[in-house]
Amino acid sequence: MKPLFHPRLVNDPFGDPGLYIDFLFDRRAILFDLGDLSPLSARQILKVSHAFVSHTHMDHFAGFDTLLRLLLGREKVLHLYGPPGFIDRVGHKLAAYTWNLVANYQSDFVVQATEVHPDGTLLAAEFRSRTEFRRVPLDPPDMPAGLLLDEETFQVRVTFLDHQIPCLAFALEEKFHVNVWKNGLEDLGLPTGPWLRELKSAVARGEPDGMPVSVRWRENGSFLERTVSLGDLKEKVLRIVPGQKIAYVTDVGYTPENVKAILDLAWGADSLFIETAFTHEEERRAAEKYHLTARQAGKLARAAGAKRLIPFHFSPKHSAEGDRLVNEAMAAFEQSPAAG
Ligand SMILES: [Zn+2]
Ligand SMILES: [Zn+2]
Repeated sequence: MKPLFHPRLVNDPFGDPGLYIDFLFDRRAILFDLGDLSPLSARQILKVSHAFVSHTHMDHFAGFDTLLRLLLGREKVLHLYGPPGFIDRVGHKLAAYTWNLVANYQSDFVVQATEVHPDGTLLAAEFRSRTEFRRVPLDPPDMPAGLLLDEETFQVRVTFLDHQIPCLAFALEEKFHVNVWKNGLEDLGLPTGPWLRELKSAVARGEPDGMPVSVRWRENGSFLERTVSLGDLKEKVLRIVPGQKIAYVTDVGYTPENVKAILDLAWGADSLFIETAFTHEEERRAAEKYHLTARQAGKLARAAGAKRLIPFHFSPKHSAEGDRLVNEAMAAFEQSPAAG
C-alpha cells in the first residue's frame, strides 16, 4: 500500500521536537510542533497548511518565526492550533515586529489561530498582514470534543496531557485507505498519476457508481483521454482498506491520567512518535520534570498496540548515548527480558 502520509522528524532526536508530515500526490504538509524548523527547505515549508502546537515551551514554538518569515508576502492562510492561551501568544509573537510596510503588499498572508480548552471549547482568531496582524475574533469551527480538523479523507484528534501545564498530543487519522491495483489499471489501459487522487476523493465523497471519470494523459507526445465509470474503477482497480494513523506524544508525566489519555489517542497507531527524554534510572527526575523515560514510552507504545515506535526528544544529558535511550524504549516495546 502506498501510504498517504509520510512523516519525518524535523530534527535529530536531540534537537527540537517537530514532526513534518508530507501528503502523497498533494502539495501539502502538516506540522506537529514548531521547534527549530531550519532543516526544512523553503519548498517544504510552503506546503504547510496546518500546524499543531503541543505547548508553547520555546523548543516547541520558536520555529513560528521561520514560518512567518517565509510566508509573509504570499497569498496564503496558515492554520495554527494550540492549548489554552495560544491565541494570545500568537498575537504576542506577531506584535514583536513592525508592520507598517506590509499593509501595502498585494498579497494578504493570514494566520488563523485556534485554541482548544479541556472541556472541548474552541476559540479562534485571525491575524491578517493587510491589517498589520490586528487580532480579529472568528467563529470557532463547529467540532465534536476531541477533534481539531475534519476533512474529506482524514482528521486530527487531540487530547490533553499534564506537563505541569496543559500539553496537547495529536493523532492524524486517515478515514480509510484506497489501494490502487496496478494490474487492474493495466487491464483497463490506464496510467497512474495525479488523477488517482481525484478518484479517491470521489470514493470518499460517496459518489454514485455511474459517475463518469475522465482520465487524460500524455503518451509519446500525444494527448490521450478515456472515460470509465466510477463503479468499474472501484471493481477493477481499487481496494478499500483501513486508513493510516500517526500519533505524536511529547512532554508528559507518567501519571495514570496521562497514560489513559495517551492509550486512547494512540490506540492502534501505525506510527507512534513519543518522547523518550530520560533513562529508566532517572525515573524520579523524569517525574519531577513531567517527562517520560524511554521505558515508559516503550510500555505505552506496546499497550497502545502501536505498530511502530519512533523515540525522540532525548535529553541533551544523553548526547553521547542516544542508543541507550532507543534500546531501552525498544526493549519495553517488544517486551524483551531487558525491559524488566
Ligand atoms: Zn515542555
Ligand atoms: Zn520539550
